Amino acid sequence: MLGTKRIIVFIGLPGSGKGTISKLCVDNFGWLQLSTGDLCRKNIAEQTEIGKKIDFAIKSGKLVSDSIISEMVFDWLCDSFKSVDTVIFDGYPRTLVQANQLHDFLMNNSTSLNYKLDIVRFVVSMQMVKDRLSDRIICSNKNCQMAYSTDSTSKFFPKNPQFCDRCGSLLVKRPDDQPEIVGDRLETYNRHEQELLKFFVSNQYTVIDISADQQADVVFAELKRALHL
Ligand code: AMP
Repeated sequence: MLGTKRIIVFIGLPGSGKGTISKLCVDNFGWLQLSTGDLCRKNIAEQTEIGKKIDFAIKSGKLVSDSIISEMVFDWLCDSFKSVDTVIFDGYPRTLVQANQLHDFLMNNSTSLNYKLDIVRFVVSMQMVKDRLSDRIICSNKNCQMAYSTDSTSKFFPKNPQFCDRCGSLLVKRPDDQPEIVGDRLETYNRHEQELLKFFVSNQYTVIDISADQQADVVFAELKRALHL
């Protein structure tokens, strides 16, 4: 009998909480998370060949080329499925081309494994994500990249305002979280969302909406209910 591997795709505006909820899934269920944004930033920090090619796109809030992203994702996926049965994609696929590439990859590899792909869409108001992104700081350690808030009333306010609670590294503002770039990133997401959803539905993938305007623990509870976990 073929083994079943599950991919849960989180889609939603930047700042909708995909990364935060992914980390809760990783901590609670032992799954693995692939944040394509984190992976891109790691490549830039390590000045890999890919990092050099994508540096400008990332800093200016533009999307990285579909082929570079999908290749990184498939390498990661093949490796990760050696050790776990469920993974989360946080921020991939983001374009119709990437969705097609992923679909084709799964179809072409389905002789050795059964894949189950579910889509979770984080639904959140524009004002909420703008507020979250303007308050967001992240850990500068590229193997961590934990996100925090500079809002002292937030649950994500770090214990020490300058350093990561998890690894002690310096907290920094992402260059693409500057207000003049955030607008472009939100617009890019909105431009691609409808065609992505249409693709998923027409290929019989389940798309679940969760309301992500709420506190992380409430969103996480809703996700668990929706996925029957
Ligand atoms: P994120 O951390 O998800 O907000 O992503 C940060 C940046 O990484 C994006 O603005 C893009 O430049 C790049 N990136 C991440 N995921 C993708 C993707 N699936 N396709 C293209 N570019 C991506």
